[in-house]
Amino acid sequence: MATLKLAVIINNCSNDDEYLLVRQTPPPKFGDEEYDSYVDSDLWDLPSAKLNPLETEFQSGFFIEGAESCSPKLSLTNFDVESTLHQVLSQVGFRGGQIGGNWVLRKYEEEAEFGPGTPVNTVFIFGKLGIEYENLQEVSRWMSIQSCLNLLLEVKPSSDRIGHLAVVGLLNEHMQSGRCKVPPSLCYQEYPPGVTIVPMGSKTQKPFRTTNLVVIAPSNVTDGCGGSSYDVYGDALIMDPGCRSEGHSELMEIVASLPRKLVVFVTHHHYDHVEGLSIIQKCNPDATLLAHENTMRRIGKDDWSLGYTAISGAEEICIGGQRLTAIFAPGHTDGHMALLHVSSHSLIVGDHCHFYSSNNWSNTIMFVVPVQEYFETSYKFLELSPHALIPMHGRVNLWPKNMLCGYIKNRRNRESSILKAIEGGAETLFDIVSKIYSDVDPSFWIPASSNVRIHVEHLAQQDKLPKGFSLERFNCSRAAFADRLRSTQM
Ligand SMILES: [Zn+2]
Ligand SMILES: [Zn+2]
Repeated sequence: MATLKLAVIINNCSNDDEYLLVRQTPPPKFGDEEYDSYVDSDLWDLPSAKLNPLETEFQSGFFIEGAESCSPKLSLTNFDVESTLHQVLSQVGFRGGQIGGNWVLRKYEEEAEFGPGTPVNTVFIFGKLGIEYENLQEVSRWMSIQSCLNLLLEVKPSSDRIGHLAVVGLLNEHMQSGRCKVPPSLCYQEYPPGVTIVPMGSKTQKPFRTTNLVVIAPSNVTDGCGGSSYDVYGDALIMDPGCRSEGHSELMEIVASLPRKLVVFVTHHHYDHVEGLSIIQKCNPDATLLAHENTMRRIGKDDWSLGYTAISGAEEICIGGQRLTAIFAPGHTDGHMALLHVSSHSLIVGDHCHFYSSNNWSNTIMFVVPVQEYFETSYKFLELSPHALIPMHGRVNLWPKNMLCGYIKNRRNRESSILKAIEGGAETLFDIVSKIYSDVDPSFWIPASSNVRIHVEHLAQQDKLPKGFSLERFNCSRAAFADRLRSTQM
């Protein structure tokens, strides 16, 4: 069952060109000067609220023109549109009791399967209001389509940002959509504009079920790349084809819709990111594969037997006139690469971050390099000041600095709790993992154990381990970890 959201497109009665957007509330601060010094710029989006079913068995009499065409799967008369609309309008400063007027269904959007929770589908309705809005609250503002497009497509580093609902409900018809044709059986998202994200079923780690396939395929080639010279040129780019074999025919359709001059970018070698590589090679043997050499070493000939171009960071890539920059991002693996989509200033982060709200869970994303390098990558991302983070598992994150600081903070906290566990008598890898991950499902303890090892190495380097702790004994206990874990799960 999907969750439903009502998004309201309010057109200004006295100026047809303007629509009402609301400043979105950022996530809470950390209460720590260092992290709180990284502030994401203001994010503006259509006002919206969760749409709940009516509590009574009576259907609502509130009239939305065109509601019957919403979706065969959804009857709006069973939902409390009226009070949700009241709630949404009060967010923007409307205090009147009457919300009458002509409300029209604009569209119904089903969210792609980002997981791990249920998708959030959105009903967009359109109406005109005006005079009552003389005293707009500080949180809302009238904006024209053009000014929204400028904020999205000609991004300045700390300029205001426009959210996903405004793009889907308001701007989509004013934007050129890309050349990527996604089969109707798959839901996808084109946000940030110019970047198509298709979550596809993959053999990934729980709680996720999908890997985001990212496609950049501008329909009309612009001279956005200017006169400068680039390391790599292409007409389209596809990233992390990690879908399982059941999705290979859909992947084939996607690749067939793209121009021949195709660049394939792989963030890292894990199977849930490369399982579909052989399909791309089969459909388009002219495609150019870009990957770090540490990644390439671990990709089998069955997956890719043609040549490749090694990248190590800072390569400039021109795709149909759009500029992209490869960024070396060791952490999750030692050959991990990220990609910056320059025009939308969005950072595709691979598996460095996942969009998932549980801090404990985010700590189980495996990293294999020394802790210091992992932190350096996170700080490098922070300094870039991206407008959005696109992970390969989960939704796009629109509070990048907050998310990256959250990861850094959790990591540091984790390291101090590992030290506490050791000071409290924990001696083996299993002792430490079972103590500090006691609130996390044991099926995540394997990646967690790899992180614990790296933190213990870091503590040893800093000379922080207590005198009585034997690093040798700890290292020997690594081999027995899996057996101990299996015996607890039985
Ligand atoms: Zn991975
Ligand atoms: Zn992954």
